[in-house]
Amino acid sequence: ARILDVKLSRLTRKMVEAGMAEESSHDHVLTSDYAVLLAEELGCNPIVDDEAAFDLYPPAIHREPSTLPSRPPIVTIMGHVDHGKTTLLDTLRSSAVAKGEAGGITQHIGAFSVPVKSSQGQQSITFLDTPGHAAFSAMRARGAGITDIVVLVVAADDGIMPQTKEIINLLKKDAGKVGLVVAINKVDKPEADVEAVKLALMAEGIQLESFGGDIPSVEVSGLTGQGLPDLVEVLSAMAELQDLRAEKEGAVHGYVLESRVTKGLGPVTTVLVLRGCLKSGSHLLSATHHAKVRVMTDSSGKTVKAAYPGMAVTVSGWKTLPKAGDEVLDGKESDVKKALANRARQADIAASLADVDAINAVRKEERERKQTESDNHSNKMTVTTESSGLQELKLIIKADVSGSAEAIEGALQGIGNKLAMAKIVSSSVGDVTESDVLMAKAVNATIVAFSVSVPRSVEVLAAQNAVPVTTSPIIYRLMEDVRQRVIALLPTIK
Ligand code: GDP
Repeated sequence: ARILDVKLSRLTRKMVEAGMAEESSHDHVLTSDYAVLLAEELGCNPIVDDEAAFDLYPPAIHREPSTLPSRPPIVTIMGHVDHGKTTLLDTLRSSAVAKGEAGGITQHIGAFSVPVKSSQGQQSITFLDTPGHAAFSAMRARGAGITDIVVLVVAADDGIMPQTKEIINLLKKDAGKVGLVVAINKVDKPEADVEAVKLALMAEGIQLESFGGDIPSVEVSGLTGQGLPDLVEVLSAMAELQDLRAEKEGAVHGYVLESRVTKGLGPVTTVLVLRGCLKSGSHLLSATHHAKVRVMTDSSGKTVKAAYPGMAVTVSGWKTLPKAGDEVLDGKESDVKKALANRARQADIAASLADVDAINAVRKEERERKQTESDNHSNKMTVTTESSGLQELKLIIKADVSGSAEAIEGALQGIGNKLAMAKIVSSSVGDVTESDVLMAKAVNATIVAFSVSVPRSVEVLAAQNAVPVTTSPIIYRLMEDVRQRVIALLPTIK
């Protein structure tokens, strides 16, 4: 009552009138359908959030960040082509697998983790091995700052190259958010010139520690493995300073790093978890795809039961194949289904609106062409009105009481856009009658019946005359139905 700005007595009266007497006790939680109906009855225009169940950080359960458990840093290796990124990652990955369980096989899943010893309980570093990959740019473009630290690889025999400069410029934009470590690579080569590379980096504004700045640099060889323990140590120290923490229980938030279809398992993705606990059996949602998690494995091919923030695991159980770079959430099965339906509907509407834009552009061109033609042929002006292409969905409203008839008029009038729109031709109180059907047939209208009955004989007459009748005691449903009918009227491009 407070939110709707009405007296409590008025709200309860409305509820009783609308047949919600049983729901009107103070501790009863209304369904969204009922809540919508009530709000509309009381002159409000509610929006149903079908994805509220996926709110990751509802204010009520927001925890003080410093009390959260720490998580491994997520590290990305970047650098000019041929400067040794792949070799460096391969050496790091295989040494990590060798250190792990005997018989571990190196799996290429888009990320791997390297164990570290640390005083602060931090146990590993997660390396993404998809730099420059579509997923990486998609996540970047979306502003998803998933990388905590970037390792900029510069080959000591080649120095700063165009892509090195590009990366430096990108990093300057992210300054403060992403840590930077420079790996001067290929130091095993006789022609390596570390000092020259350092000077060139200074010239690009990279303030190296060895020159009094705060950016660490490490001399490494991806080929021989020289310097890699130093690199891991520097990364670990930087992560400790960054004090990375995340909720490791409850709702999952993550990203798809890679996705592919495999024989036997069907669609499989690598999911990088940023928050929460990803378990087998949970229901996942990614864009318009969903999964009931079957098998999860880590980068050494080991089956895991749960994945926590900073971990990347392969996930099977997807019904269809998600896209790399898309967000992953989990929830109750019913919430996932609701969100999927909602997303499918949004996609439909977006597609229709895109069609409308395209059609408008064609129409405008056509109008301009006709205008030019008529200007050329005579001085008579042809008047083309904006509304010439308007498709109308005519509606005849029947409702139980005049209050609800008005509410429905308000809710349905104007659904649509410049090309197709709902238009109310009549609105009255009472059951649907034969004369309503005849009128609907005469003007080519749809009958919208709210909380009134449609006698059998009237139903038959409507069917014989192909007059659509939509009936529901829930305004939201009627709005949905009308919206779908309006969308169906939109012209499609041939
Ligand atoms: P990317 O394009 O940055 O991924 O570079 P790659 O890892 O594919 O390496 C390009 C070439 O440099 C390959 O021929 C590697 O064998 C070679 N390479 C990479 N790292 C080293 C290194 O540390 N020392 C030497 N001598 N060669 C290296």
